[in-house]
Amino acid sequence: MSAPAPAIHWFRRDLRLADNPALAQAARAGKVLAVFIVDPDQPGEIAPGAAGRAWLHRALAALDDRLRGALNCYRGRPQELLPALAARWGARLVTWGRLPDPSLAGRDEAVAEALRTAGCEVHAENGFLLWEPEATRKPDGTPYRVFTPFYQKGCLAVAPPRRPQPAPRFEALRDREALPLAALGLWPAHPWAERVMAHWQVGERAAEARLARFVAEKLAAYPARRDLPGEDGTSRLSPHLHFGELSPNAAWHAATGTGADEFRTELAWREFSWSLLVHNPDLAERPLRPEFDRFPWRDDEASFAAWRRGRTGIPLVDAGMRELWQTGWMHNRVRMVTASFLVKNLLIDWRAGERWFRDCLVDADPANNAAGWQWVAGCGADAAPYFRIFNPVLQGEKFDPAGTYVRRFVPEIARLPDRWLHRPWEAPGEVLEAAGVRIGRDYPAPIVDLAVSRRRALAAYDRVKRKT
Ligand SMILES: Cc1cc2nc3c(=O)[nH]c(=O)nc-3n(C[C@H](O)[C@H](O)[C@H](O)COP(=O)(O)OP(=O)(O)OC[C@H]3O[C@@H](n4cnc5c(N)ncnc54)[C@H](O)[C@@H]3O)c2cc1C
Repeated sequence: MSAPAPAIHWFRRDLRLADNPALAQAARAGKVLAVFIVDPDQPGEIAPGAAGRAWLHRALAALDDRLRGALNCYRGRPQELLPALAARWGARLVTWGRLPDPSLAGRDEAVAEALRTAGCEVHAENGFLLWEPEATRKPDGTPYRVFTPFYQKGCLAVAPPRRPQPAPRFEALRDREALPLAALGLWPAHPWAERVMAHWQVGERAAEARLARFVAEKLAAYPARRDLPGEDGTSRLSPHLHFGELSPNAAWHAATGTGADEFRTELAWREFSWSLLVHNPDLAERPLRPEFDRFPWRDDEASFAAWRRGRTGIPLVDAGMRELWQTGWMHNRVRMVTASFLVKNLLIDWRAGERWFRDCLVDADPANNAAGWQWVAGCGADAAPYFRIFNPVLQGEKFDPAGTYVRRFVPEIARLPDRWLHRPWEAPGEVLEAAGVRIGRDYPAPIVDLAVSRRRALAAYDRVKRKT
């Protein structure tokens, strides 16, 4: 009798063993060749930017560990590699986690076609979202454009999220022709990557531990603390969810009791962003509101550079941009404030900010990032209205009243009293002197006047609106 044929599982943004429905299907074969592929035609497929690539490198190492050294890595076109591997190993089934990313749809279809032509069965199953975007349409078949009905009617009313499944048992096969992880060239050459990644524990085990700690220690206070950037009040699961080290179902079902509804609602925003991307494949390039195609964005490299480096002279903005650079992550409230400052006070195109975030965030995600930027810019679906312009001073005083966050990332003004911390340029000379701060030397003067730039943004929006 011949040995049963092994299956191949192609890992993408599902870098975990537990609650991975496509992997569970492959595991039924008993033996699984676990495969990861860097496709030269899809360089940003799994990690769209440099910080993401550093995370991916570590995530693959962690997955390899979970598989006891049997994660097989390759470079090449999956539509050629997978049929060749199937032929070499005598595999009859190839599985992968279905990704709703429109930029991958054509390639994935070509892979499935090539495998079927080679006589393989293909099993692609969703493990990335709680509700697949195709299933969350309105009764008339069109997609929801507003979050609340999307969540209430398109998601909750349709079906509860699937319960998570434990990791399946299988024998993981080792291919001697696979490449060592380092040969994939994912780790960025810049020493910055090492510093960023020092802030994170990567991989499925780390994700599960973080979720368990969050639920036990922070969930109950999440509604009250999630908006305070100085506190460690949110889950920080976003990179784990992006890379699929944790399934959204595991996060959803782990959350019960006080805070669970609020946390689940945030998970649903991720679903909403993905639904927007599926129905608007150019979400990162084109504003959903067409009048913004004509918006008079300013070309101002000096201000853009000051924003990127956290040298705008506005403490909350600078703290956020430095948190991003130092840790690869930024608190959600501060993402909104820094993005609003770029788009509205500086009138710089939201797409430039989206690209910077994409490169620097460890959780950079094609749907969440683009949707987040369009939301802040006011040009997206269910977006903040353009005329609602965050005042970064008032935001700082409200959400970082004791200055914990600003002092952590902008130490040069840490000795200023709370009263002046978020508006150092208005502090009396003797206060600045006592705190050892010379504006323009130790810390920049604001690169724009907040009130004047706010009026300029409103006037620009008015002109665009009138032409509609
Ligand atoms: C301009 C801008 C850019 C953003 N870019 C990204 C991005 O590239 N990747 C990313 O994952 N999130 C992005 N977000 C959304 C949000 O800021 C992060 O998901 C959140 O800060 C992650 O921290 P957390 O895991 O502690 O969140 P928690 O508050 O613990 O929330 C749990 C999970 O819900 C999801 N979530 C929470 N808030 C949002 C939201 N507003 N939109 C979509 N999903 C959400 C995330 O998966 C998150 O991990 C962006 C927001 C803005 C305003």
